[in-house]
Amino acid sequence: MSYVDGNALSAALSLAFGTDVAAGDGICAHCGHHHAFAEAHVYLRNPGMVMRCPNCEGAELILVEIEHHLHLTIRGLATINLPGRTGQDN
Ligand SMILES: [Zn+2]
Repeated sequence: MSYVDGNALSAALSLAFGTDVAAGDGICAHCGHHHAFAEAHVYLRNPGMVMRCPNCEGAELILVEIEHHLHLTIRGLATINLPGRTGQDN
């Protein structure tokens, strides 16, 4: 099955987290691989989007929109590092 890179999730996740997810990274809970969100493999042929580890293909994050609500499952990420709001004007 073909995939796209982690940037495919950036817009939806940036809305959910209130920060630029494209500049973030995380650690896979399955294998411990540390990678940028942009390096993840994102599969779009599902009811939602599935982000998989670029090292072990373990499911890290699942995002589904149902009736205008985002449902986010992130059990496959041990750690998420996102840019903070320091220095932003809001
Ligand atoms: Zn992994």
